[in-house]
Amino acid sequence: MPFSDFHGNSAVVHRLRDMLARDHLPHAVVLAGGQGSGKYTLALMLAQALNCLNPPAGLPDFCGNCGNCTRIAQARDLDARFAEAVEARENLRETDKKETRIFVQTHPDVLVIPPDPPQMMIKVDQVRRVIETIYYRPAEGREKIYIFTDSAFMKEAANSLLKVLEEPPEFATIFLLTENPGELLPTVRSRSMTFTLGALTAEEIEQDLANHRPEWKPTQRALVARLSEGGVGRARSFDVAAYTAGRDHAMAILKSALVGGEHSELFKITESYRPGAEGREKTEALIRTLYSLLRDLVFIDCGAPQLIRNTDIAAELKRMAEAADFEWITAASDRLAEVERGMRRNLLRSLSLDAFAAALEK
Ligand SMILES: [Zn+2]
Repeated sequence: MPFSDFHGNSAVVHRLRDMLARDHLPHAVVLAGGQGSGKYTLALMLAQALNCLNPPAGLPDFCGNCGNCTRIAQARDLDARFAEAVEARENLRETDKKETRIFVQTHPDVLVIPPDPPQMMIKVDQVRRVIETIYYRPAEGREKIYIFTDSAFMKEAANSLLKVLEEPPEFATIFLLTENPGELLPTVRSRSMTFTLGALTAEEIEQDLANHRPEWKPTQRALVARLSEGGVGRARSFDVAAYTAGRDHAMAILKSALVGGEHSELFKITESYRPGAEGREKTEALIRTLYSLLRDLVFIDCGAPQLIRNTDIAAELKRMAEAADFEWITAASDRLAEVERGMRRNLLRSLSLDAFAAALEK
């Protein structure tokens, strides 16, 4: 899996590799970009390029097969490694649990530092581990790599990080991944170099999905490319089945409001949105989907159907748009905002979804 496998943002990737070639990669690198934009993937690739035992000729790259490359690649599934680390901590004695922080380490010279639960913040003990180890030369590679996967630092942790950034050893590189560089201390940013991974176009993502998700239908790939907001990672891991199931419900609710008719069907649907953590997530996803469908109806109504996201049900949406004028869509959006507010105050979810559909009936 060499750099050519990194989709999009080729100018940024080229610049980083060029700096590697000239041995000019800064010791502290901020990789900024939205969720799923590839920040973590790119940081690991750079870690591999810095440590590969059989680097291919030409611009710095990595083989993907040597001992260093394969062990670093084991950290690629961050969610899985993170879950393992959390579970390992759960199994510790109560007293040890309190003092144990979460790390992901699949290679002795590459340490991944995710936010520590339950607060999901980078804690001072995690930065301490960096300080304790960073000044020792790498054991098996050429470069020590530290990857902070999030910029939510506790105050003391951020201040400790600053100390490392003031005098990093020549053989270490620290990556700071962030969706919003403004979350990092200005003093941290001024000691780092920031690279931003921009959002990809729907067409670029569709192309990537053709390679990585060949099992999806072309209509599904087109849909996901439009729903993933420019993030390749988000697109590749998109749960199409869950989305379309939720969208069927959202469409049924809107149809029931627009054409009236059979209410028992509607109740059956809204009843399946139960209180509790899981129900809450499901309801929030439903609300997001309702908004996205209403937005598509607006695009159709104002003569810009090429902008809709739910391309795979375009014909159905067009039929629906004939009954939904601007006034109705505005009222529906307002009502949906009310349901959201009600959820935040913990009103019964199924009740407020019924009320939503009933209030919009024509
Ligand atoms: Zn290698």
